[in-house]
Parts: sequence; structure tokens; C-alpha cells
Amino acid sequence: MLGAAEIRTLAQGLELRPSKSLGQNFVVDANTCLKIARMAGVEASDRVVEIGPGLGSLTLALLSFTKNVTAIELDKRLASKLQETLRTHGSEEIEIINQDALEVRSLEKQPNKLVANLPYNVSVPVLLTFLERFPSIQSGVVMVQYEVAERLAAKPGSKSYGVPSAKAAWWCDVQLRDSVSRTVFWPIPNIDSALLTFQRHKPSGEPIGSEELRTVTFALIDAAFGKRRKMLRAALAGLIGSSAKAEAVLAKAGIDPTARGESLDITQFAEIAKAWQASK
Ligand code: SAM
Repeated sequence: MLGAAEIRTLAQGLELRPSKSLGQNFVVDANTCLKIARMAGVEASDRVVEIGPGLGSLTLALLSFTKNVTAIELDKRLASKLQETLRTHGSEEIEIINQDALEVRSLEKQPNKLVANLPYNVSVPVLLTFLERFPSIQSGVVMVQYEVAERLAAKPGSKSYGVPSAKAAWWCDVQLRDSVSRTVFWPIPNIDSALLTFQRHKPSGEPIGSEELRTVTFALIDAAFGKRRKMLRAALAGLIGSSAKAEAVLAKAGIDPTARGESLDITQFAEIAKAWQASK
């Protein structure tokens, strides 16, 4: 495992000044990394994808449970150094992809778990994109900004419920599991962090509807929360064509047209999408 002193030495060797825009706050506490790997239930048979391995703290913790880890790192210096760090710690070679995670469309080995301390500014798109692009991912643990964790795990009717919560719920159940102290990072961030677990709805990895239905459902979610304080018939008027058409679609879906998006769960959004498709 990597400790605080070794992380600083590695960073010095690379002349690395942690980049804020890349969310480079490295975990310097090995116990936190082991806790994340355990929370994800990583076992020898798992194929894990890690996004943003950085200097390798979490990667080494994952490698103590399975040899199958694929790491995707955008920063070239970090991606180039990682294999050597792992070797120094007695680990075998792993697949390292030096690319923006959002640009990765296929992976040689299909992962069944995603475990990552995600770069904060892209945590939601990265998580949603990976759930969409890699149906083989069945579960995982991600560390994100505390408020983002609240939003991703929020249920209808709560203050934090919004676009990320509704979209994540299309693929999986998300739970906020624990907060993480700022002191486990170097440099210490000025935001709080939390650990989220997620689990696909069905063992087969099938989401709750077809890709076509998802696209329509997601457009409805964007429209409903784009005008969060408006009643649904008004919030969806622009997308569906008019307030009258939106009201008819909502009635057909069995949803009160005077309700607001924040009260609907993902299956209700999908019902509106089905009713709208049927009315075209
Ligand atoms: N896993 C390491 C740890 O826990 O110490 C580092 C986590 S740090 C919060 C986020 C990492 O993601 C950094 O190494 C950063 O360079 C990398 N990163 C940032 N944006 C990325 C992107 N779009 N795709 C892949 N990696 C990215």
C-alpha cells in the first residue's frame, strides 16, 4: 500500500503539482483504500475498472483482492508511472489506458465492477456514461463530492432529488454509505467526500427499458428538472409540443399533470415516455 510519505516522493519525482481541474486529490491513507475495495466486495474472480488511478493508492488496494484491474488515467505522467509503482509493490502488470474516461468506448476485458475515487468535476457524467457503455458492470463503489453523493442517491420528494438521481436510477440502486474525512487526501480538498455503492437493478444487467425508451425518458427528465418549479404539463410543454399535448400524454401515463418532476420516480418518467411514444 502507498503511504503519505511515498505519495509525496512519487509526486516529487514526477514534479507533479496536483491539478485542480483534473480533481487530483490523492488518498494518502491505505486504510481508506482497503475500506473502498472491501465495500465493493472485490474478489479474485472480479474484473475491476478503476477510473483515475492517480499515483496508485486505490489500485494497489484493489490488486490485493484481484489481479484483474484495468485503470484509465487521463494524466500522461501518472499513467506512465503507474506500472512501475505497482511493480515496486510486487504487483503484476495491469492494463493501463491513458485516455479521458469519457472517451473510452470499449474495453478488452469486460469489467463487472467499477471502483474509483472519481475526479470531482466529471464524476456524474463518468458514472452515468460507464453504466450506459458497459452493461457488464454490475456493481461498484465510487468516492465523489458529498453533495454529489447525496444527489445521486436521492429519492423522489427529497431536496437533493434531480437529474443525476433520476438518471442513475434507470440503471441501478445507489446508496450513500459513508462520509470520508478531508484529511485522508493530499492535497487536502476544500470539499467533503462520500462513498457511494451502486448495484444494477437486475442480475442480467438489463436496464428498465430499451435504449430508445431511455433516450426519450432522459429528455423528459432534463425538461422536467430544467423547469423544476413548474408543474409537469408546463415543464414538458416545450418538449412535447404544447401544454395541452403534455397534459394528454401525462393523463395517458396516469400521472397528475399538476405534479412536479421532483415527485416522480424513474418508472413514472418511463411511463410518460411510453405514453408520448404511443401518441406520436
Ligand atoms: N485514485 C487516486 C487516489 O485515490 O489517490 C486518484 C484519485 S483523484 C481524485 C482523480 C484522478 O482522476 C486523478 O489521477 C486525475 O488525473 C484523474 N482524472 C481526471 N480526469 C480524468 C478523466 N476524464 N479520465 C480519466 N482520469 C481522469
